[in-house]
Amino acid sequence: MLFPTTIAGSLPKPAWLAEPNMLWAPWKQDGAALAAAKRDATLLAVKLQEDAGIDIVTEGEQARQHFVHGFLERVEGIDFSNKVEMGIRKDRYKAMVPQVVAPLRLRGRVHADEARQARAHTKAKLKFTVPGPMTIIDTIADRHYGDRVKMAFAFADLLNEEVRALEADGVDMIQFDEPAFNVYMDEVRDWGIEALQRAAKGLTCATAVHICYGYGIKANTDWKETLGREWRQYEATFPVIARSTIQQVAIECRNSHVPMELMALLEGKVVQAGVIDVASDVIETSEDVAAVIGEAMKHVPKKNIIATTNCGMAPMRREIAEAKLVALGAGARLARKRFG
Ligand code: ZN
Repeated sequence: MLFPTTIAGSLPKPAWLAEPNMLWAPWKQDGAALAAAKRDATLLAVKLQEDAGIDIVTEGEQARQHFVHGFLERVEGIDFSNKVEMGIRKDRYKAMVPQVVAPLRLRGRVHADEARQARAHTKAKLKFTVPGPMTIIDTIADRHYGDRVKMAFAFADLLNEEVRALEADGVDMIQFDEPAFNVYMDEVRDWGIEALQRAAKGLTCATAVHICYGYGIKANTDWKETLGREWRQYEATFPVIARSTIQQVAIECRNSHVPMELMALLEGKVVQAGVIDVASDVIETSEDVAAVIGEAMKHVPKKNIIATTNCGMAPMRREIAEAKLVALGAGARLARKRFG
């Protein structure tokens, strides 16, 4: 089937699980009630995607407070009680981040519950997202390794342990989220891509990397204003990724200033093209979605195109996100009819 659909990863959480419409949203439950609420929300996330005609579903990232710290919470060697302020993504925003204070080790499984819950309740292909090593070290302070690259490789090993276990849980695709790849282009070439490949080592399921310009929050939209008329960050990273073992690249296209012809630099890769804008509450029409797919086809063989959202939808209003899911499914159907 042409143009299978997926989402970047996250969906908004129900108001009974976490404070709505924000990032880093506090949980509304704790203990066993929180665990149960996460399982229920995971089930809803899967159902909403299936009903919208999404082919490769996720667990909606319902069980994690943040796409990076959801992973870090299960890592030993991190001090969460003494957070420090750090400028992240080259100082685009300040965040209170935990500190690495001892050798890093996984304290058991990280995402087993939600991966198994999603797997048990859908026959659709299941994609699971984890943060990439470069993005992790850009979101945490180092008080132990004294060398951020060394710390990145330590995280890559932990990620590898978890993603192999996720594959064993029945996950069909592992996607590493690396927004930092759009910020530190030289470092991607020098060590970032190697760290990423180390994190994906030994996987036999599909592998993907998501590189984006971030959620539709103010710090990101302000930053985008400074990037000029054409956003060419991908131009430096795509050739590096094209030579890597990572099979798919998820990028933003809809309402983006990224020149679409840059996709041609991803020769041989499957491109997950963002056809849904997550920085706008305007619901795309089927025509809007099909038009982006049509543009992507000029630069990528159509059999290598997956339609997705530009980025996660975690901070959006639920009804908007749900309408956008439906638009994604409907738009891909139109594209199949038109370009099939
Ligand atoms: Zn993103």
